Amino acid sequence: MTARVLDGTKIRDEILAELKDEVAILSSAGIRPGLAAVLVGENPASQLYVKSKIAACEQVGMASGLLTPDASVSTMDLLAIVEDLNRDNDTDGILVQLPLPAQVDTKRVLEAVDPAKDVDGFHPVNLGRLVSGRPGLVACTPAGCMEILRRNSIAVEGANAVVLGRSDIVGKPMALLLMHANATVTICHSKTKDVPDVVRRADIVVAAMGKAGFVQPDWIKPGAAVIDVGTNRVTDFAEAERLFRNLPERLEKFRAKGNALIGDVHPDAAQVAGALTPVPGGVGPMTITMLMSNTVKAARMRRAKSIPRTISVAGPTSGSSAGAR
Ligand code: NAP
Repeated sequence: MTARVLDGTKIRDEILAELKDEVAILSSAGIRPGLAAVLVGENPASQLYVKSKIAACEQVGMASGLLTPDASVSTMDLLAIVEDLNRDNDTDGILVQLPLPAQVDTKRVLEAVDPAKDVDGFHPVNLGRLVSGRPGLVACTPAGCMEILRRNSIAVEGANAVVLGRSDIVGKPMALLLMHANATVTICHSKTKDVPDVVRRADIVVAAMGKAGFVQPDWIKPGAAVIDVGTNRVTDFAEAERLFRNLPERLEKFRAKGNALIGDVHPDAAQVAGALTPVPGGVGPMTITMLMSNTVKAARMRRAKSIPRTISVAGPTSGSSAGAR
């Protein structure tokens, strides 16, 4: 048995095309959704992420702005920047790229963002809305996982779902979204006893631990849907051999490149699962896509309530129903 591949790049392209149409409609009504990114210092990974986010804005026709304070910026300086963006009517989404330098109080800065412009979905007000099943802005990665399930018609209602990881940005919101979609949800963390046994009962597994190839093929219930959020850079050859024991082509690529991107699920799980997100090319492409979706949603909620919607992206209470295959 080989799992159906849940292709995140295909869903990304679908959603971005839908958003482009929606942005055109809003813009023709004088409301062009806009995202402002705050990029502190010169961290190359952060620069790359922000560049991709701005490129995605351009792709869908949204406005974007970039503020680049120096790495020596203070908490008060950043609070002033956020306050200006909160007041700017043309800014629908505020993105503060993390990590911030050590001298900055990150929580204080993130909590200063107007919840109506919190397109990362990190603000406690938006988390509270998610807990109580009210409309709001939901963290992008878990929202993207739900879109993967929904657009592949994978049954969530009534399913046993296991979420591995309980971080504020992935595990917790993921578990809440699945619960609101009527799954029966179990959350595992580093103190959970007998994780393999818990996973074996799951119709849907969401792995978000940050541990390369941790979930073994014999933990997966045959036919289950597996959403692999993990993105781990493997550089050790012995580890690559363990992970790619049945994938000579990937091992060959590893040999040539010296590293490989691997999820939290062992690649051989594809022989047991009914459906599986690849790494790379599964959940990864969905995160920026949902940031674009959240920015359009924020523009609608704040400035364009009366204009009819053209696309439907899953909210906290929407589910899906069909088999994993
Ligand atoms: P995190 O904040 O480090 O959280 C990891 C979670 O995994 C914690 O809740 C931890 O439990 C749990 N955990 C660790 N070891 C475990 C074990 N042996 N058994 C069960 N649970 C265990 O990580 P994160 O930010 O949520 O990210 C998780 C992964 O997703 C990372 O690989 C990250 O790179 C990736 N990610 C990908 C995207 C994307 O766009 N594709 C976006 C975000 C994150 P405790 O709470 O007990 O410590």
